[in-house]
Parts: sequence; C-alpha cells; structure tokens
Amino acid sequence: MKRLALHWQILAALVLATLTGVMFRYLVGPELGEEGFAARAIETSKFIGDLFMQGLKMIIVPLIVTSVISGIASLQGVKGFGRLGGKTFAFYACSSLVAVVTGLLLVNLIQPGMVDGQPNEVIRAAFDEKAAEASDADREKVAAANEKEPKDFLDTIKMMVPPNVFKAATDNGQMLGVIVFSLLFAIAITRLPADEMKTLREFFQAGNDVMITVTRWIMAVSPIGVYALMFPVIYENGPQIFVEMGSYFGTVIAALAFHFCITLPLVLKFVAKVNPLDHLRAMRDALLLAFSTASSSGTLPVTMRCIQDNAGVSKRTASFTLPLGATVNMDGTALYECVAVVFVAQVMGVHMGFGEQFVVVTAALLTSIGVAGVPSASLVAILLILKNSNVPNAEIAVVALLSVDRILDMLRTAVNVFGDSCAAVTIAKSEGEELFGESAA
Ligand code: ASP
Repeated sequence: MKRLALHWQILAALVLATLTGVMFRYLVGPELGEEGFAARAIETSKFIGDLFMQGLKMIIVPLIVTSVISGIASLQGVKGFGRLGGKTFAFYACSSLVAVVTGLLLVNLIQPGMVDGQPNEVIRAAFDEKAAEASDADREKVAAANEKEPKDFLDTIKMMVPPNVFKAATDNGQMLGVIVFSLLFAIAITRLPADEMKTLREFFQAGNDVMITVTRWIMAVSPIGVYALMFPVIYENGPQIFVEMGSYFGTVIAALAFHFCITLPLVLKFVAKVNPLDHLRAMRDALLLAFSTASSSGTLPVTMRCIQDNAGVSKRTASFTLPLGATVNMDGTALYECVAVVFVAQVMGVHMGFGEQFVVVTAALLTSIGVAGVPSASLVAILLILKNSNVPNAEIAVVALLSVDRILDMLRTAVNVFGDSCAAVTIAKSEGEELFGESAA
C-alpha cells in the first residue's frame, strides 16, 4: 500500500491533537490533579514536542552554512549577486510594507480595542486578569524584555557583521551574521581559481547532501512532533480566549488571511506568473510545519526542501533568498506587531493620530527584521514599540497578549514562511528559472 503523503499525515496529527486536546480538557479535565493522568500526558507530550523542535533547530546552522556555500560557490565565476540581493531586498521590503498597511487599515476600521468610540473596559479588565494569571515564565520573559535597551535598526545592521562567527552560530538570534558570513565565504570561492577551490566546493556540497538526508529523517517523524506540540496547546487554550478578545483575534486573522489569500497569490499570479494553487501545493508541508511549530527558523530546512524539490527553484536562488527571508522577512510578524500596538493603545485610551501610526508602521517594519524566527519572538518588539509610543501599562498588556499568543503565533508564522516562499519563486522566475516542471509541459 502506498504510504500516506506527509502533508496528510501532518494534517491527521493536527486533527488528532485537537480531538484529544479537547477530550482531555473537557472529559478528563484537571480534576485528576496536578499529578494526575492528564498532567503526565501533557508533560510527556511537551517533552516529545521539545525534542522535535530541538531536532529542527539542531540542523539549522549546518544546513544553512552548507547550502548557502554550496549553492552559491557552485557558480564559479558567475556574477549577478548584487542583482539577486537587490531584488530580494526590494521584494521583502514591499511585501512587508503591504502587510503592515493591511493590518493598520483593518485595526483602524474594526477598532477591536474600543466600544462606541471608548476604550473597551472589558478587555482592559481581561488584560489585568490574564496578567495576574500568567505563568512565571511569561512574566519573566516580559520583565527581561522590559529591562533591555531598545534595539534599533542600527543594531540589526551590526548583527550582520558578527565579531565572532562561531559565537553567532551558537546564538539563536544571530543567524543573520552566520548567513552574511556564509555568503561572503561563498562569493570569495567563486572569485578564486576554480581548480584550487575544487576540494572546498566538493566538501560543502557533500556536507549539504548529508544535511538534506538528515532533514528528510526529521521530516519523516514530523507528524509525531506536530501531535506532541499541538496537544498541549489545545488542552491549555480553551475557547474562552476567542470570546473575550474575539474582535482582536478576528482583526488579526482577517488581516493575515487577506495577505495570505489575496495579496501574495496576486503577486504570484501577476508578477511571478505562476499558479498560486500549484505554489500552495508545493509548500504545504512547510506551511503545516510552520503552523504547528510557530517557528519560521525551525521550519527553514523544510521550506528549503519544498521550494527546491516541489517548486523547482534552483539551489542558488533558494539558498540566497530563504535563509535571509526566515530571519529578515516576516510579513505576518510585521502585520501582527502593528495591529497589536494599535489595539493596546485603543484599550489603554491612547489616541494615535496619523503621525503616531506612521511611527508604529516604521517601527514594525524595522523590528520585524530583527525578530528571531522563534515562538512569540515579536512580543518583545511589541513591548518596545508600546513603550516608545508612551502607551501606559504596556507590560501588563504584553504579558496578557503573551498568554493567549500561541494560536495567533502559529498563523503569523505560516504567513511569514509563505511570504518567504513567494519571494523565492518570484525571484527565481525573474532570473529565468523554469518552475513547477514547466520545461516538461
Ligand atoms: N513565531 C514567529 C516566527 O517564527 C515570530 C513571531 O512573530 O513571534 O516566524
């Protein structure tokens, strides 16, 4: 019998996790006590989920380094990286800007933080309640972010040139430095005599082949990982968050859906001239994994596989655009930051005029570049923007948002990964590559 395709397995894992999560929440329930069966099941599931996430993270650095170097160094003597870089950054800047503007328009239109033109007191009270109930870990995270000096755009530029590339490779937030170093290394290889560089190129090519095989192994167990990650999420997040903060969730989801279902497919259709549905089909494993893990960095190995194996993007374009995209291009995150900041300002009764919102847009765009591709990373940026905009009780609001963040994080991460993949396809097309088996047609 043919094995079920991976995306069906992942979808089945998601459905099963939802069913068992709901069952445990409402049938088994917490009455079995802290030490009871439910608690143990959740703990075991979290352990397996952490193992899976760590497996994904484990392969990121060697995979990025070998794929960037082998992808680019294979093109001995070929020029045009300036052009590729220019196009990539132009795409990233434009798509993030459109995403932020979509979020801004909807949050102003729907005004999820207000009722009858007044700050919504019910949500304000829910903030306090959620902040009081928040886990110590969430509270500590926000307190630590609050202590930090605001990171500005210049800090992000500084991260691109790490003083110690090995140290950067061991720090989750410093992938940008590793990517830039790998790019420089690869471009240098293309500028040196081909016969002298032969061994080095073969070394990185072989290393990349090995890492691709390891990635396939990790992908093969991803349905188990997805189940283990999702089951506690469903168990811990009851439907009441949708009731209290329904209009906020609705605004974020509508804006993300607009970007995912309308803006990016239009770009695919009219700019890249590829069928959006073909693209969606090609990327489904990566999108499901992004949704389940809420980490675009963790998903990167699978995004790279899907874009090359299923969409047919060359290794050169994929290795240039995707690792960069996973760190700097976060359409969903930029959009979310903008909606969250304006929403909190509405709840706290701070009026934001055009000027203030312009500052928020700029800050959301710039900080989304520096946000790491890990779960809930953008909450730190939101806190900084809120403080910068002098919104009172920013810390309470962010702790509350953090405690209900998971579902929105999963959605915006899928949008982040989809945005990167659309960029890769559009740029590959503009470089004259044949995608989705075009030559065979
Ligand atoms: N979880 C997001 C990602 O990995 C980042 C964020 O918005 O928190 O892409």
